[in-house]
Amino acid sequence: MKDMLEILLDFFKKYRIDCFSSLPLGACRLKKPYLLERDGITDGTVIVMAIPYYTTACAAKERNLSAYAVARDYHLFFRRLFDDLLPILQKSFPQNKFVGFADHSPIDEIHAAATAGLGVIGKNGLLITPRYSSYVFLGELITDRKLPTETYEPRTCENCGACLAACPAKSGNLCLSALTQKKGLLTDEEKEHLAAFGSVWGCDLCQEVCPHTKKVLESGSIFSPIPFFAEQPLPHLSTEILNEMSDESFRQRAYAWRGRETIARNLALLEKGESSC
Ligand code: SF4
Ligand code: SF4
Repeated sequence: MKDMLEILLDFFKKYRIDCFSSLPLGACRLKKPYLLERDGITDGTVIVMAIPYYTTACAAKERNLSAYAVARDYHLFFRRLFDDLLPILQKSFPQNKFVGFADHSPIDEIHAAATAGLGVIGKNGLLITPRYSSYVFLGELITDRKLPTETYEPRTCENCGACLAACPAKSGNLCLSALTQKKGLLTDEEKEHLAAFGSVWGCDLCQEVCPHTKKVLESGSIFSPIPFFAEQPLPHLSTEILNEMSDESFRQRAYAWRGRETIARNLALLEKGESSC
């Protein structure tokens, strides 16, 4: 019978996941312990994954969404992955418990990924990996099974300051990413700010200016090898495209949780700004 590490290595190869490592659960910072308590896991191992999502569609000049929102919602990717992986593990090790998380996690994912040696913690608040810079989603498999692990003192980036210098929120403005997600009425100032920014959803400024991103763009290593992120890309949204999108397609997008109205409002502001030029 294959041991768990062999199963994981085969599985990650199939999914083309090449940035993962394991650390003891005890080395993680618990943020939402109840998410583990409900599964009865108190000790064990965390296998943390950094999933790259940047594709050629993200490099398109006409992109008006944050790069993470160009492909379908990454939660769909993780759901598919865990739906595939967990039954295999459960069948092979019926005496153990396995649970998968992404985003809504019991642990501090960035701290765990840095402790497992996947990258450094950037001043921009993101994990920076050597191959993909910060263009990764973090997810983890947690089990009560003990596996070999290696831990490192979490390191931070070199603090060059480029991300802070590029951030328009530092001069008292509301964070642009938060602004694109804000529901309801915007003030005139917020409308102007959003129209001038040119993004329908999210902001990548602090990632784009980071020297680590420039390096991996130059080398070409930034591009995700995972097919899911190259499927059905939508780098540019317009009112016309939004209106033609079925509810089912819309639900598969990372911005769907905010509802069509918020996206339609942002588009109207952007398109008004473009037509008045
Ligand atoms: S998302 Fe954009 S505006 Fe918001 S803090 Fe980061 S760089 Fe600043
Ligand atoms: S831009 Fe500089 S300070 Fe900001 S995350 Fe990148 S390396 Fe760190």
